Amino acid sequence: MKNPPLLPNLEFAEACTLSVIVPVFNEQESLITFHHAILQQMQKMSISWELIYVDDGSHDGSRALLKKLCVQTPQASLLAFSRNFGKESAMSAGLALAKGEAVVIMDADLQDPPSVLPQMLEAWRAGADVVNMRRRSRAGETWLKRWTAQAFYQVMNRMASFEIPQGIGDFRLLSRRAVEALNQLPESNRFMKGLFSWVGFPQVILEYDRDPRVAGQSKWNYWKLWNFALEGITSFSVAPLKLSTYLGFLIAFGAFAYAFFFLFKTLLIGDATPGFPTLIIVVLFLGGTQLMAIGILGEYLGRLYHESKRRPLYLVEEYLPPRDLLTESNAPQYKGRL
Ligand code: UDP
Ligand code: MG
Repeated sequence: MKNPPLLPNLEFAEACTLSVIVPVFNEQESLITFHHAILQQMQKMSISWELIYVDDGSHDGSRALLKKLCVQTPQASLLAFSRNFGKESAMSAGLALAKGEAVVIMDADLQDPPSVLPQMLEAWRAGADVVNMRRRSRAGETWLKRWTAQAFYQVMNRMASFEIPQGIGDFRLLSRRAVEALNQLPESNRFMKGLFSWVGFPQVILEYDRDPRVAGQSKWNYWKLWNFALEGITSFSVAPLKLSTYLGFLIAFGAFAYAFFFLFKTLLIGDATPGFPTLIIVVLFLGGTQLMAIGILGEYLGRLYHESKRRPLYLVEEYLPPRDLLTESNAPQYKGRL
């Protein structure tokens, strides 16, 4: 995934210090507040920067609004997908476009406060390649979401060969070399949270208070979260495949023990009892475990199938580059006006 597909070949003057990537999906209520908050924060820090909005196929007024914001702000750019490809794809697209020495991924709903950016940059300057942001509080979230999230990390960390820190969303800063590493990854099933840890390099964790959304609603529901968890586990571990092997051993061993038990019982006491309940239980149990094992196989096979098609992660419908960073040699339709 070097160059996002269908992008004009543009030349950029120089890299900036900070790129902020913002995936957007139906966020018209929060975009203006967000944009102003980030501009305000940037004015306080004297660094060169760019703001990359990735419109993930919004069907409200987000796209039109983003275009207006890009016209007003020469540091801002907009990459609009042809449909909703999901936040993981939007983040990957942003990472492929980002020109900054440091790159921050941020939600459009102001749940990730721009006021912590100076701290993140400080940690990066001190040598961190990945600055993970841990939520100190999870205001506005139910206990069920908190509990399921915790359970997921426990399972995930037991299975993967590296540690995925808990309580950390997608809000983080990445150094140029961490971004380059992520841009090289060819897979289309992208569980970014895992990939951010997978790249390694010096990582630090900072704490922050996560606010509730400024407006609009979360795009996640439990079905989506479940699928997200499956994606995470199958992306980084084949332990579930092994599980069926061991379960098979266990059941076979149990069956042997049971057979011996019956043999001796028949020899000592006499003819076995009719045993219908036992039979039914064994049949159902075996049927169930077999189906489960086939299901697990299917999860991996399905992903293999997806991966083998080698389709692009997303399709771009529209791109407005950051005018600030373009060189004079670019088509005049980009430099100077939008
Ligand atoms: N988002 C996206 N594509 C999607 C779903 C969400 O780009 O398919 C964006 C969304 O606009 C927001 C961020 O991802 O900027 C986080 O989404 P949300 O706030 O719904 O997630 P939560 O904060 O509840 O985990
Ligand atoms: Mg949010």
